[in-house]
Amino acid sequence: MIGYDRRYTDRDVREVPILRDLAYDFLRGYGGDFDFLVNAQQFLEAQGYLPTAILRGVLNCMRTDVRAFPTLPPPLPLPSRPEPRRPIERRPAYIDVRTQFKMPYITSCHRTTQVAHLLNVERSFLRYYPSSNKFQPQIRVWCGRTLYQPFQLTPTLPDDRRECKRCRVYVAYAPMTLG
Ligand SMILES: [Zn+2]
Repeated sequence: MIGYDRRYTDRDVREVPILRDLAYDFLRGYGGDFDFLVNAQQFLEAQGYLPTAILRGVLNCMRTDVRAFPTLPPPLPLPSRPEPRRPIERRPAYIDVRTQFKMPYITSCHRTTQVAHLLNVERSFLRYYPSSNKFQPQIRVWCGRTLYQPFQLTPTLPDDRRECKRCRVYVAYAPMTLG
């Protein structure tokens, strides 16, 4: 059995900075197809960082990876005395993370896809559920098309895609319809 008995906690992530670097390195080299890790990888690529709760999830996946495991320090020892009770500190049911790109292109990763749509940033976010360690992207593009996962976000139009004309039209008229 690989992995330490205990899982990493948010406290490990906050107090042991090298865990962050190890998780980023691991994700950047990840070539598997486990949904959670693929989503985390795309998130890291698009945003340049991972929130604590997602990092913790990645680290706990790494514990079961034959190659990654030996690089990991053990989780911090549990506090010997129970910590003084804090006012109810409940983990949020979910965390919404928004993109930092101003006007990103979004395109499905399927080979047959030719069009890149314009992401409606104000109506899109990546919802992360810490309890189940799952991402649920809430994605809206300007033209209203439904995009299927996996997809990627890029700040510029990818070479092998053309821009969605309808998206561009909607963006052009957006200020009028909003005003
Ligand atoms: Zn479109």
